[in-house]
Amino acid sequence: MPEGHTLHRLAAQHTELFTDTRVAVSSPQGRFAAEAARLDGLVFDRAEAWGKHLFHRYAPPHTGGASGAVVHVHLGLYGAFTDFERPVAPVGQVRMRVVGPRGGTDLRGPAACGLVTEEDVDRILARLGPDPLRAECAPDTAWHRISRSTRPIGALLMDQRVIAGVGNVYRAEVLFRSGIDPHRPGRAVSRAEFDGIWCDLVALMPIGVARGRMHVVRPEHDHGAPAYAPDRPRTYVYRRAGEPCRVCGTPVPTEVMDGRNLFWCPVCQT
Ligand SMILES: [Zn+2]
Repeated sequence: MPEGHTLHRLAAQHTELFTDTRVAVSSPQGRFAAEAARLDGLVFDRAEAWGKHLFHRYAPPHTGGASGAVVHVHLGLYGAFTDFERPVAPVGQVRMRVVGPRGGTDLRGPAACGLVTEEDVDRILARLGPDPLRAECAPDTAWHRISRSTRPIGALLMDQRVIAGVGNVYRAEVLFRSGIDPHRPGRAVSRAEFDGIWCDLVALMPIGVARGRMHVVRPEHDHGAPAYAPDRPRTYVYRRAGEPCRVCGTPVPTEVMDGRNLFWCPVCQT
């Protein structure tokens, strides 16, 4: 599933592509057709991301204001945007197509794509914890939840109500970099350790936004075993089950925690 850096990168790309231009919106697949008809021809204001949620904001053409329609997108496991310079015949199940004078994008396979109200936006944001990629977000509410919880820190970091935008890869890698066993209960994590996790996310996730891929292995460890798959980032533990830890050589174990595969080093993480 795409993690927060992917959504923030999409928001920046869509803002650059469409802001202050009149866009054509359609739903070649048909499942977003009624909503697309209401958006078609409006001026695109901006795109924003919060955690794994993306919002397209439209300005009504007669006002030029910023309080127009809002489209909410959650990519889920399979959703993806594909950009193009000139419109081509849609391939596959394109839920939403947005085309402006500078190019366009096709959305396929999202878990959610709908026209929402400002109240809906507020409800969605109210369910989300602080996003390390949003400068205005303070980590205090995340610390409040973690420090009172008996749930393992590995599960808490995946919970979007605790921290928004962290997925399976950042969860595994940040816990490795912090030396914290993912099974440790939240309330056994110290404030200093939590601050370390938060600061690491604040440092790492913008690199993912800028490069379009994660970069989590420190230079001194960035040698030896290649990435877990071609064209994927090198990781310390994520999807390296059975491979030697990049730091201590211990084989990386894996297990399922809350329905998602977990990876860690039992020696480096305590
Ligand atoms: Zn190790």
